[in-house]
Amino acid sequence: MSVPFVDLNVIHRPLAAEFQAVLDRAVADSAFIGGAAVAGFEAAWAGYCGAAHCVGVSSGTDALALALRAAGVGPGEEVVVPANSFVATAEAVVMAGARPAFCDVDPDTHLMTAETLRAALTSRTRAVIPVHLFGQAVNMGPIVALANNYGLLVIEDACQAHGARYCGRRVGSLGSLAACWSFYPAKNLGALGDAGAVTTRDPELAARLRRLRDHGSPAKYVHTEVGGTFRLDALQAGFLSVKLPHLDGWNAARARAAVRYDRQLEGVPGITPVLTDGGSNRHLYVVRFRDSAECARVEAELKRRGIGTGRHYPLPIHFQPAFAYLGCGPGSFPAAENLAGRMLSLPMFAGITDAQVDEVCRALVEVLHDGDPEELDPPRPAEPEAKS
Ligand SMILES: *Cc1c(COP(=O)(O)O)cnc(C)c1O
Repeated sequence: MSVPFVDLNVIHRPLAAEFQAVLDRAVADSAFIGGAAVAGFEAAWAGYCGAAHCVGVSSGTDALALALRAAGVGPGEEVVVPANSFVATAEAVVMAGARPAFCDVDPDTHLMTAETLRAALTSRTRAVIPVHLFGQAVNMGPIVALANNYGLLVIEDACQAHGARYCGRRVGSLGSLAACWSFYPAKNLGALGDAGAVTTRDPELAARLRRLRDHGSPAKYVHTEVGGTFRLDALQAGFLSVKLPHLDGWNAARARAAVRYDRQLEGVPGITPVLTDGGSNRHLYVVRFRDSAECARVEAELKRRGIGTGRHYPLPIHFQPAFAYLGCGPGSFPAAENLAGRMLSLPMFAGITDAQVDEVCRALVEVLHDGDPEELDPPRPAEPEAKS
C-alpha cells in the first residue's frame, strides 16, 4: 500500500457541493474582490483565534512582510528569526526592507527560545518572529518578557499552527502584536489556492494593513503610501469559510494519528520522534535520525515503497544561497545546523487512516532494521547438547 505525504482529497471531496455554491454565488454577484465573503471570513477567523482584528491577505509570506511594514519595521533594522524555519520567515524580513538576524533553536523542540533570542540581540534589533513549527507552540511567555524589556516588537509566524494552543490559549493571542497565517492548501486550514491573514489586537495596525494590502489606499483614488496588491481573494475567503467549521475536527484527527505513530515508534532504535506538546495541532509528524546519511537512506527506501515524506528543513536558512550575503558560516547556529539533515516528516493529514499509519510504521521499522543488522538479535549459537 502506498501512502502519500499529504492527501487533500479526503477532506475536500465531501465539501465539493459547498465549494461549488461559493463559486456560483461569486459569479452571480460578480463579487471577486473584497465584499461580504472576505469580511465574513475575517470576522470568523478573528473569532476563532480570539483576536480583535483579522486582515485577510494574499499569502502567509505577504502577511509577515506586511505586518512588519505596518509596524514600521524597515531599513537599518534587524529582525530575529530562527535559523530552522521555512525560508519565508526570513524572506518577509527582506521584503520589508530590514535585515534578518538568525537565532539558534532548542535541539529537542527545534524551536527558538528566550535564550537563543537573547544571543541574537544587537543594538539594531527591532523585532522578533517566533515560529510555531510543526504545530508546536513556542514557549512565548519568556520571549514576550524579554522583548518587552528591550522594547522589541513580537510578530508570530503561526503559518503551521492553526488551532494550536499554548497554556490553554490559542496561538495568535499570546501577547504578541500580531500573528501571521498562511492558508496554503496543505496547512491545517488551507484555501484552494494561495491565501493568508494577519490577526492583531491593535486597531491602528489593522487599519494600516488594510491600506497596505490595497495600494496604500484609505479611500478611492487616495494613496497615502506605497502598498501593493496583497488582497485576500473573495473566492478563497468563501472556500475558507466552508472549511473553518471543520478545523477542530481535522486537528483532532491529526492528533489521533500522531498518538498512533507515537505508540508504534516509541523506543524504536535509531529514531526520535520530535516532541510536541499535548495541545499542539500536529501540523507535521517529524522524526529525527542519528545522522543525515541514515535520514537520506530511509527517505529513499520509503520512497521506493511508495511512502511520501517531507523535510522540514534540509538546510538551515542561513545556508541557503539567497542568504549568503548575511555571512553566517558553518558553526553560526550549531543546533539548527546539526538538526537540518536529520529530520524526516512522515505522512500526516486529516483523514489519514489507521491502516496508512500502521503501514508507514511497519515500513519505517523494517527499513531501519535493514540498515542496521547489528541491532537485530545476533544469531544464537547452537546450544551445546545437554549432558545428562
Ligand atoms: C507556509 C509557511 C509560510 C509561508 O506561507 P505562504 O502562504 O506559502 O506564503 C511561512 N512560514 C512558515 C513557517 C510556513 O510553514
